[in-house]
Amino acid sequence: EVPAFNTLAVECVADPGCALQPRVPGLSDDLFRSDGTMTKREVRAATLAKLMPMRGALLWDIGTGSGSVAIEWIRAARYARAVGIEPRADRRAMAAENALALGAPGLRIVEGAAPAALEGLDPPDAIFVGGGLSEEVFAAAWGALRPLGRLVANAVTLESEAVLMALHARQGGDLVRLSVERAEPVGRLTGWRPSMTVMQWSLVK
Ligand code: SAH
Repeated sequence: EVPAFNTLAVECVADPGCALQPRVPGLSDDLFRSDGTMTKREVRAATLAKLMPMRGALLWDIGTGSGSVAIEWIRAARYARAVGIEPRADRRAMAAENALALGAPGLRIVEGAAPAALEGLDPPDAIFVGGGLSEEVFAAAWGALRPLGRLVANAVTLESEAVLMALHARQGGDLVRLSVERAEPVGRLTGWRPSMTVMQWSLVK
């Protein structure tokens, strides 16, 4: 059950059950319907910071999955637009549902896989690659990116990390690793549950 989207504290005054949801990225993971492959809250917030949402700017979210990054982009700045590219129908359906529930009904969802599915899309101001990164996808994305555009790519597998390291060696930019642990029940006690470490590459055109 996804709580209602609210922008103003005043909307909550009359509704004790409603939660305040900020426009600053880093919404709780619980607000999204997902199959577990979603970009988690703290990593999502760091990703959006580097993508730099701006008034009227367009994001390509390649491998949109649950749509979480595109949805937070749209929420973060007025008139911000996003296209989510996703080959899997079940995930496109989740992204559409999340976009409606979280106040980003304008999210455009494109069926298909990059790089082919990128052809004909409007040139973006920022690109997030959350899945399917390859040299070919990078070349197509980087070529389409507008001047001063931002590109951020996240990887959690050795194979995609190898692609990021090769691209970083050639193109420069920032390469970081983000490790998040969350305190969760362990029996009747509490312990640190680590999420998969994310390698994140970012650069500005
Ligand atoms: N940021 C997403 C993470 C999704 S996981 C979220 O928060 O939900 C990565 C996604 O990339 C998967 O849904 C997978 O289907 C998709 N994917 C894999 N290869 C792709 C490609 N070549 N083009 C577009 N999407 C791709």
